[in-house]
Amino acid sequence: MGPGPDWTLVRYANPHYATKFKPMFILFRQILVTAVAFVFAVTAGQVRAENSFSMVVIDPGHGGSDPGGIPGQMVPEKTVALDTALRLQKLLRGAGLRTVMTRSTDIFVPLSVRSAIADAERDAIFVSIHYNASPRSSAHGIETYSENNRGAVLAARIQQEIIDRVSTKNRGTRSAEYYVLRKCRLPAVLVECGFLTNPTEAQLALTTAYREQIAEQIAAGIIEQRQFAFPSLAPTHRSGHLVHKNKNHRKIVDLEHAKPPFWAFCKFLGSYQILFPAFASS
Ligand code: ZN
Repeated sequence: MGPGPDWTLVRYANPHYATKFKPMFILFRQILVTAVAFVFAVTAGQVRAENSFSMVVIDPGHGGSDPGGIPGQMVPEKTVALDTALRLQKLLRGAGLRTVMTRSTDIFVPLSVRSAIADAERDAIFVSIHYNASPRSSAHGIETYSENNRGAVLAARIQQEIIDRVSTKNRGTRSAEYYVLRKCRLPAVLVECGFLTNPTEAQLALTTAYREQIAEQIAAGIIEQRQFAFPSLAPTHRSGHLVHKNKNHRKIVDLEHAKPPFWAFCKFLGSYQILFPAFASS
């Protein structure tokens, strides 16, 4: 008797198959299904955690008593940085991303508080918005900083998007241990959106069209990054080696080395933001 309905009937009618092989097959199938489901669940979880982020912490540089830039600079960095950051926020929210601003008005926010705001977020990236300054008025162009290999991936995308559309010098992506980057657990970048000490770029930065264009290109880089995984963190930290281009940034970074009471106060402010996220969220 060959394979066919009758053969199948005989096979299952055989007590040998029914009591031994069929339960084993069911058990094997059950283990296989469970294993596949487990692998799928774990992989899906990892893909979600690694690949995408749903939140962007936007950090407009300086603010309040800290105008940014260098002494004697005509266009205050804090103002154009905030406007660009608010434009970026609007664009990202339009694209379905959640955002948190480290400041959304002209107030001074200590760097440690900015870090604490970022640290309170999960599934997020950190984007700091600055404009550059140099004692040489000829210095111009756009550059994006990161501190580690995860930020570098995001920095490269943002820098490329800006350079594709804004016709200025491509100063490239650079590595620097800015406080807000070094202290940030999230993939973090700092974008220098042009030199306010360069007459041409300062005039541009004063136009809403330029700031909107910069915001659009930063948003494009961020949205593009959502499709890709961040690499796992490579240990590249060079402790004690600070890289800063101008006196003003160096001064800001030095807040990190402030005396303990001030630091404790900053931590207190930081926990306030964590306890009442509505204060920081928007
Ligand atoms: Zn700055």
